[in-house]
Amino acid sequence: MARKVKCPTCDKLNPRDEVVNNNYNNRYYCDDCFKKKMDKVNEVGCTKQDYNDLYDYIELMYGRKPDGQIFQQIKKYKEEYDYTYEWMLLTLQYVFEIEKLPIQEDSGIGIVPYFYHKAQVYYNRIWDIMDKNDTIELIKLKKEPKKVDVNWNNKNK
Ligand SMILES: [Zn+2]
Repeated sequence: MARKVKCPTCDKLNPRDEVVNNNYNNRYYCDDCFKKKMDKVNEVGCTKQDYNDLYDYIELMYGRKPDGQIFQQIKKYKEEYDYTYEWMLLTLQYVFEIEKLPIQEDSGIGIVPYFYHKAQVYYNRIWDIMDKNDTIELIKLKKEPKKVDVNWNNKNK
């Protein structure tokens, strides 16, 4: 028998296996309740769209919904480091698509602070060039799935 856990928001019982990623403070939420809960947790004066874009991108790249660890990182970066959702997203895109670094599952999005400012320099330079050359189209945030090599053993860099 699969262990059931009660959603703190709606009291629904869910098999733990199915909601194991919806963990916040060791409580397990349904998918919808978790997203709503995290929206609240992360509500600190920023646009919903930026937040959703970041959420979608993480889900796309990591192949799963952001878990409690990632949400806490987002909240921390936002509140303590004054990062924006938009730039966190751009930083992740920079890390995975430009630098082509592999995703380190166990550290969530802990790589963001290491590349946040580097990504800003990179994109600002590109946008600068584009401003001077209107024949080039502006970079759009890409949403199409990307193949990512997740190689667990290859951590030598
Ligand atoms: Zn629920």
